Amino acid sequence: MSAVAPHAVSRLRTARLARSAKPFLARGGSRIERCAGCRLPASHCLCALRPAVAARAGVCLLMADIEPLKPSNTGWLIADVVTDTFAFGWTRTEIDPALLALLADPQWQPYVVFPGEYVAPGRLVTQLLAAPATTSDASTKRPLFLLLDATWPEARKMFRKSPYLDNLPVLSLQPQQLSRYRLRRSRCEAHVCTSEVAALCLELAGDHAAAQMLEAYLDVFTHHYVQARNQQPAAWEDAAHLHLRRLCAAQQDRQDV
Ligand SMILES: [Zn+2]
Repeated sequence: MSAVAPHAVSRLRTARLARSAKPFLARGGSRIERCAGCRLPASHCLCALRPAVAARAGVCLLMADIEPLKPSNTGWLIADVVTDTFAFGWTRTEIDPALLALLADPQWQPYVVFPGEYVAPGRLVTQLLAAPATTSDASTKRPLFLLLDATWPEARKMFRKSPYLDNLPVLSLQPQQLSRYRLRRSRCEAHVCTSEVAALCLELAGDHAAAQMLEAYLDVFTHHYVQARNQQPAAWEDAAHLHLRRLCAAQQDRQDV
């Protein structure tokens, strides 16, 4: 798996590291050697279980400055699973021309994914504008979900101070399930994490297999992350791993047909 070209979040991390004056220390300050493919210690490396699944939708991550550096960042998992994942670092004053080009690309219908209570009603949608993947009409635009990958205060600031987002529809999700995300509980207990948001968006777009895969992958990643932090071995045969393997096998069967 290590031969796979680095994805958008990985490239953003590399670029961000190159700009750092001093090395970034993950919380806890440990200097464990981490796998470049999954950011976990080698003993808990998840690269062998990285799923591949086709999705019609795309994801565009707008990431707060330090987000790509966090080993717990789940935007990384989205980029692992969803082929068309784009990632850009956010600053108030600079806009990457590639981001503007992506948002203007006619193959995509971008949606800013953000809680509805902060949005003028005219911009708000709770369903996709175009027909979902059930139609084979190639002229139908593919949904592109723009996620603000940041702490909540940062995300609000990004939303308010990015004029190029002002003309885009805002998709507001109603997550039915409580977050199973346990990594950064102190900061996002009231919110689902970025990869859970992406899974909900994929579900809405009719990309059911990709949505399921991303959720299953998050569960396994979270387990590995927490076990590594507690210096406990990963339970490779537990229900979460078996579920992910089953989904991967089903996916493989579908591709082989
Ligand atoms: Zn790895």
